[in-house]
Amino acid sequence: MSSVLLLSILMLSLLGIVLAIILYLVAQKFKVFEDPRIDQVEAILPGANCGGCGFPGCRGFADAFVKTDDITRMFCPVGGNDTMAAAAAIMGKTVEAKETQVAVIRCAGSPENRKRIVQYDGATSCKIATSLYGGDTGCQFGCLGLGDCVAVCKFDAIYIDPTTLLPVVDEEKCTSCGACVKACPKFIIELRKKGPKGKRIFVSCINKDKGGIARKACQVACIGCGKCVKTCPHDAITMENNLAYIDFNKCKLCRKCVEECPTGAIREANFPPRKPKIEAEVQTEKTE
Ligand code: SF4
Ligand code: SF4
Repeated sequence: MSSVLLLSILMLSLLGIVLAIILYLVAQKFKVFEDPRIDQVEAILPGANCGGCGFPGCRGFADAFVKTDDITRMFCPVGGNDTMAAAAAIMGKTVEAKETQVAVIRCAGSPENRKRIVQYDGATSCKIATSLYGGDTGCQFGCLGLGDCVAVCKFDAIYIDPTTLLPVVDEEKCTSCGACVKACPKFIIELRKKGPKGKRIFVSCINKDKGGIARKACQVACIGCGKCVKTCPHDAITMENNLAYIDFNKCKLCRKCVEECPTGAIREANFPPRKPKIEAEVQTEKTE
């Protein structure tokens, strides 16, 4: 080997060592300290990366959770209370348990209740259909049934019922991540408290048209008659733009509004079947 070659190898090796030292020093100087608790919190999160917490994925949530002073505002709907308690413990804190929520569909306009008046033959996307027209029935507020909500649910918790053509939420699978709420261009889906033993009551309609128009379009529309508002003993119902809304924090699940609603727009979930009224009771009620 000639001495020139040896010298070249030596020089290159030396250069490599010098550059490595420079790189090491630069890396040390600009090193960003990352709190090891971010990894610990991320490890106990479900890893769904659904964004239901409002952060870009579980890592984003873990990062924000470790850095914030107030963890009470943060919640992972998929992990729920157990995960939040474990994450808080890593920070040496505690959190109060939150009530479980579930997605509810605020439209009951099946073909039986809501006649189709036009035929849509375009793209099978609710978002696209909404930009083109108001829907294939007389109700411009109702569900289009094209399943954008189904497509975004990472937990396989929604499907379109082939008879009603409406979405159905599987409450055992629903994690209340809210992806379907954001995906629905008609704002039909709402996250509501799951309620004791899953019992909950809500107005399954978002039609804001005047009563006659709403009823003409759909048999089970809220017609804004206000009977439920008057009948609720707990002041849980408000009326705005011809549409009733039940505040789930005030509702005591007495079901009086369900009985009073002339169109059946108020839905009850997971209640035992009502006992049939005996004739005498009915007579007494009539004479009262
Ligand atoms: S139904 Fe909606 S809220 Fe429930 S898991 Fe699916 S996308 Fe999330
Ligand atoms: S609930 Fe909304 S997103 Fe789901 S099918 Fe109906 S219109 Fe489409």
